[in-house]
Amino acid sequence: SPALRVLAARESPSMAATIGNDIGVALTRGRGTRVWDEDGREYLDLTAGSGVHALGHAHPAVLAAMQAQLAEFAHGGWQFSCPARARLTERLCTVLPWPDPMILWCTTGSEAVEAVLKVARAATGRRQVLGFLGGYHGKTSGALTVTANAAFRADVTEVPVAGLSLPYPVAPGHVPPGAAPGRGHRFGQEILDHPDFGGADVAGLIVETVQGAGGMQAAAPGLLTELRRHTAERGQLLILDEIFTGFGRTGAMFGFCHEDVQPDLVVLGKALGGGLPVAAVAGPRELLGALAPLRQTSTFSANPVACAAGVAVLDVLQTQQMPARAAVAGQRLVDAVRALQVPGVRLEAIGRGLMTGVRVAQAPDTDRGAFTRGVVRRMREAGVLALRGGADGAVIKWTPPLNISDADLDLSVEVLAAALGGQAE
Ligand code: PMP
Repeated sequence: SPALRVLAARESPSMAATIGNDIGVALTRGRGTRVWDEDGREYLDLTAGSGVHALGHAHPAVLAAMQAQLAEFAHGGWQFSCPARARLTERLCTVLPWPDPMILWCTTGSEAVEAVLKVARAATGRRQVLGFLGGYHGKTSGALTVTANAAFRADVTEVPVAGLSLPYPVAPGHVPPGAAPGRGHRFGQEILDHPDFGGADVAGLIVETVQGAGGMQAAAPGLLTELRRHTAERGQLLILDEIFTGFGRTGAMFGFCHEDVQPDLVVLGKALGGGLPVAAVAGPRELLGALAPLRQTSTFSANPVACAAGVAVLDVLQTQQMPARAAVAGQRLVDAVRALQVPGVRLEAIGRGLMTGVRVAQAPDTDRGAFTRGVVRRMREAGVLALRGGADGAVIKWTPPLNISDADLDLSVEVLAAALGGQAE
């Protein structure tokens, strides 16, 4: 668009190339499931800001809470108590699985991952935390010790970067990261036999119940239950990164609720702030209490405006039963995708709830990544914004607001069908 070209010409010369607008849209406004670009063009937003807008853009209750708090006090600092932080601390504790939970407030997901690594070390006296193949936990130095992607790790030299990723058994229909298809559909001997698992210096494991950045890969049913048992036997902590999966997205309040497993520590972020940055480590008092005063603070942690938004987000999620809605909507989406018949194309619907991926398992084009790039471009031309993911870029990601209507879900699949067939609407 002309407006995008003007913006890009202003930004690009002075912005580091680490981020880029490869989807070709400049967003200026959002309401509910819709966003608008500089030219006033409307889109159905399947990205929800990387899964942040669980209640849609500018949800009235969240917006009102932000505006009221902003008018009072935007920022004081972690050194001071503040009513908004107190309210969110109390409110978040009511949805956590421990009788005596504690919360360590952070600003971004990556920072909370850094913090959880420190907590795990302080609580166990051991040093190493293991991640899983396909896992994503952020790109700061500590987080990169558990993020699997070797290219992301390549820039970091001050941390051990090799040999820390365990096999990730995936649900049927998914492709296990880093392994031949067909293997790894259950918790297996391959994890138990892994040289890193069970080492004397292993403080714990960090795992996603659905790998978001890894391409909407859902863990094999039973994986968490097995991990719970085996980590407990070894005195290791089971750490769940619920930054993406948390707050209803997978069809339950947290991903671990599907297996009725009690994790040792949970990392939270994204949806909690309703669009503003707030993140946290949560766990029982005996673990969170292990980190000494002043060992993890940051200027903007538990920002009052983000905290006020967080209380509203949790209230709406619970009163309107959004996690259950996400489960029903996710199933509708999967059923619609499975019913699609496109010559030369084979699709797999993967993921869980409204953390769904449409994996192009076979395409007319032998380069499936190039094929899906064309598909998301044609979807955008037809007014639907989606991002791609997965190791080969062959997964189109559906992480819309949890309150997306049936009509919008159906629309998204109709637009997908047209885009797969090669015509823009
Ligand atoms: N963990 C997971 C599971 C994530 O999805 C992300 C962000 N995509 C992060 C950690 C890092 O969070 P942030 O980008 O807020 O630092």
